[in-house]
Formats: sequence, C-alpha cells, structure tokens
Amino acid sequence: MMPSRQDWLIIGALALAALLLGAITGAWTAMLLLAVLVWVVLQHRELSTFVAWARRPLTRPRNRLETWQRLSDHLYRRLRESRGRTARALERLRTLKVITDALPDAAVIVDRVGAIEDFNRAAGAFLRLKHSDRGANLAALVRHPEFVSLVRGQHTEDLVEFASPFDDDRRLEARRIPIDSRRALVLVRDVTQLNRLLTMRQDFVANVSHELRTPLTVVVGYLETMSSEALDAATLRELLGKLESPTRRMRALVDDLLLLSRLESSPQPDPESLTPVDVCAVIRGCIGEARVLSGGKHRFECECDRTQQLLGVENELYSAILNMLTNAVRYSPDGGDVTITWAARGAGARLAVRDQGIGIAPEHLQRITERFYRVDLARSRVRGGTGLGLAIVKHVLKRHGSALQVESELGRGSTFFCDFPAHAVRRTSPTPQEAP
Ligand code: ADP
Repeated sequence: MMPSRQDWLIIGALALAALLLGAITGAWTAMLLLAVLVWVVLQHRELSTFVAWARRPLTRPRNRLETWQRLSDHLYRRLRESRGRTARALERLRTLKVITDALPDAAVIVDRVGAIEDFNRAAGAFLRLKHSDRGANLAALVRHPEFVSLVRGQHTEDLVEFASPFDDDRRLEARRIPIDSRRALVLVRDVTQLNRLLTMRQDFVANVSHELRTPLTVVVGYLETMSSEALDAATLRELLGKLESPTRRMRALVDDLLLLSRLESSPQPDPESLTPVDVCAVIRGCIGEARVLSGGKHRFECECDRTQQLLGVENELYSAILNMLTNAVRYSPDGGDVTITWAARGAGARLAVRDQGIGIAPEHLQRITERFYRVDLARSRVRGGTGLGLAIVKHVLKRHGSALQVESELGRGSTFFCDFPAHAVRRTSPTPQEAP
C-alpha cells in the first residue's frame, strides 16, 4: 500500500507540530513519540473500520483516510463485479435447469463407468431416479442388458430400444452421446405411442391393400375370361354386369378413405364460419338413400324437430347420418323398423338412430369405431360395408363437439346417438304451420 499525498500531509503536519511543541516545551522526544502515537491511532481506527466492513461487505466501505479508502473501494468494486457475475451464472444455471426439467425426455449425465452425475425431472419418471442416486451407477439402477451395455459405451449402436424394466407396457429408446473424454449424456424417450402409431399405420396399409385386393382379383378374373375366350355378346354383357359389384365396392372404399383422410387432416372448423344446418332436410336426404339400399324392405320413421338447427358442416353431417342409417339397414333383418330422431335435449340437442337389428355384443362396442373393425366381416362385405363408416361418424361428431354413443342388445337392436352442446345448436321459432 503506497502512502498517498494525504498521508504525507498528515505525517508533515504531525512532525511540524512535534517540532513546534518540542521547541516550546523542550521535550523533543516526548513530542515526537506523541506524534507517532497519533499516527498509529489514526491507522488503527482505519484498520478497525476496514475489518468491520470486510466482515459484511454489502454496503460501501466507510474509511476516511485516502489510502484506506482507495484500498477498500477497490475491493468493494471487485466484490460487486464478482457478485454480479455469480448472479448471472446462477440465473443461467436456473434457466438451464428449468429447460432440462421441461424436456419430455430423460437426460442423465454419466461418467466413464456409468456413475450418475446429474439428471433431469423426466429421468425421475422414466428411470425412477432419486436425488440420492447421484453417484450410483446407472447400469445398476436400470437393469436391462441392452441399456447396460449402452451406458457402459460397449454397445455397437448408439441407440437401443427396450421394454421399460418398470412398466411392461412402455417401450423406451435410449441414446448415448459422448460429451467429452470423461462424460456422456444418456437420453431416454418413451416411444410407446410412436410404436403404436407405426403399427397402426402398417395395419392400415395392410387392411386397405387387402380390402382392395379382393374385388380387384374378381375384376381381373372376369377380364381374363373375357379376353381369353371368344364370347358371344350375351355372355359378354353378363360378365360385364358382374364387374359392377366389385368396382362399386372399390369405389365406395376409395371414397370413404378419401373422406376419412380429409376429416383427419383438415383443421377443426372455425365456429365463426359455421352456418346453421337444417338437420331435418339432411335426414330426409339420407333416408332417401337408405331406402334405395333397403330396397323397400325396412320401415323408416322420422321424428324431427325443425326448430333445432345445428351449427356445422352440412356435407360432413350428411355423411355421418347416412352411415348410421345405412348401418341400421345393413344390420337389420328385412321388415325391421329404423327410427331417427332429432330433438332438443337440455340446452343442446340429440340425434339418434335406432334399429331392431342383430345388435352388438358388449365386447365389440369399444372397438366398432376403429377403422376396418367388423363384428361379422362377411355380413359387412355382402351388404356393401367398407369398414370405415363408424370411423367417419366418430370423426365428424368430434369435429362438431360431440361423441358417438351406442346402446345395443344382441338380437334386439341398437341405438347410435350423440348429444350436441348448446353452443352448437340454434333454436328457431316454429313456422306458422308447425306451431301447435
Ligand atoms: P361397416 O362398413 O362394416 O358397416 P362400420 O364402421 O360402419 O363398418 O361398422 C363397423 C361394424 O360395427 C360393422 O361391421 C358391424 O359389425 C357393426 N355395426 C355397425 N352398425 C351396426 C348396427 N346398427 N347394428 C349392428 N352392428 C353394427
């Protein structure tokens, strides 16, 4: 610590005072000693002030002498800078922790032998890791041969998929990413849903191919017969007539597939852009088509409240109602009654299609809206079903804020119904001829 100008001034003043007092009193030594004592007292006071501040250096130091002031101010500034740096680093750490904890995948940092250094929140859920597991070996806590060799860096691939040791229904995918020569990051994600979707997609492609192949084989068979044999005009006409049914089936299937894919891929209809649909008019149109399918063998009854209109997409509602009605025809014996009702229910409205058909056993009810799920495949095919009807109904209703419900009794019939929420229903006043 270099003496400042102020120090020299004080030393000079003290020496001058000692000389003057020495000259007056003649006690030179005593006066010089007194001057030194005053200097020591001053320095001691500054030292005490400095020590008191240094114990809790949160506010500005209070030294008065310039040399001490310079020293303590310098230390105070450095302390503040380093406090600021620490606070910023802590903030960054906190943000990083929040980010890693928000990740849906488990992230674990392990050392060369697999000992856990740190992990995020998802690792607690997927791998059941606890705070006390820090330092333990990850391979010992999650015991699956493939995972263990991955954690130890001994696996040939950097990615393994395995069944969760904690939950048989879950499939996990783990990846090891080296960070430096000492550590690696092990990422684990739940691929159960992804696998399910992939299986569904494979099943779907297999189903579509199978559904198309059957009528296509029939068409090809007839075409081969027609081209290989010399046939008279009447036989040719008869064979051409036989092509109609399989081609109609293929067309129905392609139409349903296109509609389903449109329903799945198009965004939810904007409630603002929906217009009130005259459900009774839609029902009338659908009954007309269902009558054609029935060939006059079923009786149709319609109880329709014309004052209830539905905010929706008309052609989608048409497809849904037609599918429910044609199913009622398909799965009812000749002579059966089919009743469709559209009426207010609570603040909303209910649509219901009731038949007296073959009914559905309870164990099938959960699955009948799955694509290509049929209780009786042969009956569905013979009656022109594509296996996609109820999947279409389910999607249309979902897009209109409703859901398909079924009540059915084997051998007695079924009721397919759905309730629409109040905000989707518009009540109009009855026209004079409808008013009671
Ligand atoms: P499909 O084209 O085969 O009718 P859907 O998706 O419309 O396909 O229906 C799925 C299955 O649900 C049908 O194959 C049938 O087994 C059953 N099902 C649907 N509606 C009825 C009904 N009204 N009565 C009895 N079973 C029905």
